[in-house]
Amino acid sequence: MERTFEVRAPGRVNLIGEHTDYNGGLCLPVAIPAATTARVSLRDGAVHRLVSAQQDEPWEGTAQDAAPGAVRGWAAYAAGVLWALAEAGHDVPALDLRLDSTVPLGAGLSSSASLEAAVAVAAVTATGRQLDDALRVELVAACRRAETEVVGAPTGGLDQTAVVLAQAGHALLIDFDDGSTEQVPVDLAAAGLTLLVVDTRVSHDLTDGGYGSRREECEEAARRLGVPSLRSATPGSVAGLDDDVLRRRATHVVGEIARVEEAVDALRAGDWATVGRLFTTSHASLRDDFEVSCAELDLVVDTALQVGALAARMTGGGFGGSAIALVPAERADAVRRAVDTAFADRGLATPGHLDGTPSAGAALTPSR
Ligand code: ADP
Ligand code: MG
Repeated sequence: MERTFEVRAPGRVNLIGEHTDYNGGLCLPVAIPAATTARVSLRDGAVHRLVSAQQDEPWEGTAQDAAPGAVRGWAAYAAGVLWALAEAGHDVPALDLRLDSTVPLGAGLSSSASLEAAVAVAAVTATGRQLDDALRVELVAACRRAETEVVGAPTGGLDQTAVVLAQAGHALLIDFDDGSTEQVPVDLAAAGLTLLVVDTRVSHDLTDGGYGSRREECEEAARRLGVPSLRSATPGSVAGLDDDVLRRRATHVVGEIARVEEAVDALRAGDWATVGRLFTTSHASLRDDFEVSCAELDLVVDTALQVGALAARMTGGGFGGSAIALVPAERADAVRRAVDTAFADRGLATPGHLDGTPSAGAALTPSR
């Protein structure tokens, strides 16, 4: 292996299956073209050096310097992966990493998992190792550990699994009950469709409290139903919950898991009308029962559907972030323009537009 090489790790959007990961459920993300790239070279000694074009402060240290509690800010995500890999017994040489990303930070498109995966792939391929399936699964675990233990952010694992295991032209069905994954072909081009991603550029949940409280409500609902997780709850049992809030939260989760199963069948059959219906139901459920949408996300969804989208919904955790729309390719520009106009009419900042074409997971960039 040459001493300098490049690694690329994508962001992701979830097609459907929101707030299901921490309930032992199903979700169906795709990797997107926007990605973090890492220019990697080997250093002598044991001290890594990490620089990001998106941050002012570089970070330097050994893997042990990135143990939980020892590092803050963006380096906790990046260097935290080096610590987690060392903990898992990986022998990582000292690295010089120059990172740069086209995934907008904090837009719900998983810039954090993209950054983690870029570092993880750089670290294990630096010694010339091939990225096989088993190694990819180890990388997912290290990225998750960095985010939960070093950053201290609760994560269900959807993001790290998606950006490491995704394949171009496919969505990744993830079953959080047993950890299994399955590639589901998504042939947008054959159907003449484009997947638009709209970053609302708003985040209403500055304290992250909304995510934590939803998790707790789901756990409480499962406890009252006497099931290990809402994965084993049924619509009938959920309907019997006395508490109105817990019943609505659980109704979303149980319905959403069923919608993922239906969406997989519809995608395999090229049944886009059904995909559209499922996206609409999912969005309404997140808005009304799970209560994690917001005016800006609703505006993108409503506008896209009015201008000809086949399907549209919020994606990711909610409270801001991004929405997706499946649009006939020839309507894509019209939908983007209509969304911009709708935002301008309400005095909102111009949203960001990204391409959602299902893309490859984290990998070495082929050398030219
Ligand atoms: P997202 O939805 O984008 O994953 P998060 O809040 O989970 O939002 O992660 C965003 C954080 O990840 C940033 O505040 C920063 O600390 C880190 N991060 C993401 N991408 C980069 C990058 N290219 N360079 C440095 N830090 C990054
Ligand atoms: Mg993130």
